[in-house]
Amino acid sequence: MATLFRNVRVFDNTLTEGAGNETDVLVEGNRIKAIGTEATRLAPADADIVEGNGDLLIPGLINGHFHSPVNHMKGMLPSLPLEIFMLYESPDIEVLRPSPREAYVRTILAAMEMLRNGTTAVQDDAFFVPYPTPEIIDAVMQAYRDVGIRATVALDQPELAELDKLPFLADLLPQDMRAELSVPPAFGREALLGCYRHLIETWHGQDDGRLSAAVSCSAPQRISPDYMGELDQLSRTHDLPFYVHMLETKLQRVLADEQPRFKGRSLVRYTADLGLLSERMNVIHAIWMDDADYDLIAEAGTSVAHNPISNLRLGSGVMPFRRLRDRGINICLGTDEAIADDAVNMWSVAKLAGLIHNIGGPDYDRWPAATEVLDCLFNGGARAMRRGAELGSIEPGKLADLALVKLDSLAFTPLNDIKRQLVYCESGSSVRLTMVAGRIVFDGDRLTQVDEAALRAEARDIFQSRRGSLEAARREADRWLPYYRQMIDKAAARNIGMNRWLGYAGQ
Ligand SMILES: [Zn+2]
Repeated sequence: MATLFRNVRVFDNTLTEGAGNETDVLVEGNRIKAIGTEATRLAPADADIVEGNGDLLIPGLINGHFHSPVNHMKGMLPSLPLEIFMLYESPDIEVLRPSPREAYVRTILAAMEMLRNGTTAVQDDAFFVPYPTPEIIDAVMQAYRDVGIRATVALDQPELAELDKLPFLADLLPQDMRAELSVPPAFGREALLGCYRHLIETWHGQDDGRLSAAVSCSAPQRISPDYMGELDQLSRTHDLPFYVHMLETKLQRVLADEQPRFKGRSLVRYTADLGLLSERMNVIHAIWMDDADYDLIAEAGTSVAHNPISNLRLGSGVMPFRRLRDRGINICLGTDEAIADDAVNMWSVAKLAGLIHNIGGPDYDRWPAATEVLDCLFNGGARAMRRGAELGSIEPGKLADLALVKLDSLAFTPLNDIKRQLVYCESGSSVRLTMVAGRIVFDGDRLTQVDEAALRAEARDIFQSRRGSLEAARREADRWLPYYRQMIDKAAARNIGMNRWLGYAGQ
């Protein structure tokens, strides 16, 4: 299988002007074989030809942080703080258990959206209500296999009781409700490790490495140190990314003072003291952190996943981008889940990442440049996925995960500055072709591997029939709401010596 892109411009983040000269790019198997006259010379006679007409070939976009199990819930909730949002999004109740087909269809929904926009790889931190099973894991992985995207998938399950994960609740709740939240999930560590064995043995490295496994502990406050250590061991043995949400909200910072097990340390320091911060780890959000936390992350070579749209949707706060870049911390960009973005479109994430930090201070030399945002989008994502040597740029030998962007679209007409127009103007609608591992999966007109219209119709049917169970889940959440609200207000009022909200007078 070979494809020759003829007369394309090749994205180069080091170019200071223009979009480069037209050239040819040869893809053979799942990799880029050659660029320039060498590509033309080596192209086999039966290679598929893509006429570039001077359009721009870019590395595929990488969605560095995502949770597929709520793909069917976009737009479903109003903007709410994370802890209340989670209460409504994924209550741990049996009625929300998906069938394998439902898990398959919902997974593929967002994958189709990503491929249409030129996103070729995703890190899916998948949580399952009430818990994962081999059948559900297989359904998710099969969806990624069928649609043709590159996917790295982890099982994001808490192991501790709700009361261990949150501050103040034990004192706020009436006794009977407190008892309900003091029970840890029945699906414990051994069962979760069994699911990981299934994921890794069945799926890791499949389809020439297009499908792979990661590990996830959800967040350090949601699991025991022993389980976190075992996940780290799996990550080390198989070189898997390790996803950990850390200090997304102010409440999570307050938690460290409230629960004796943290001994007043931030969740970053706690994780570092366990010896578990590593270059394999993806710290997700990294908002309510101080300089000592960022120093620890930088020293360990840990990546950070920045999800600016989700952070605004849930009012979490603004991650201080420049403090991380100053320390050389690798940053990837992510949509986070489809219920908290609510599009699965990396172009809007890149645009917001390029804009929100401009109101972090008046020194405009320290505002993100378009070239930095693109670095996070491509190289940052590749490194976070542990594929830095194979993804993120267009070079011979690298994997052929590519998108072809029309330069005669309105976003690039007239062409003034390619990098700024990629970050500030493009919405995904100029993507005329998406290739993953050397295979064209979106040809500008349709997805080539699946019947999109049939899947959309099936999704409408399935999730229409599920409205009753979602309604039941909402009623279940309602009874907890007053207590969660009080918990959040209490945490918000605490002076912690830092602020990550905009225009907020408190500390
Ligand atoms: Zn997340």
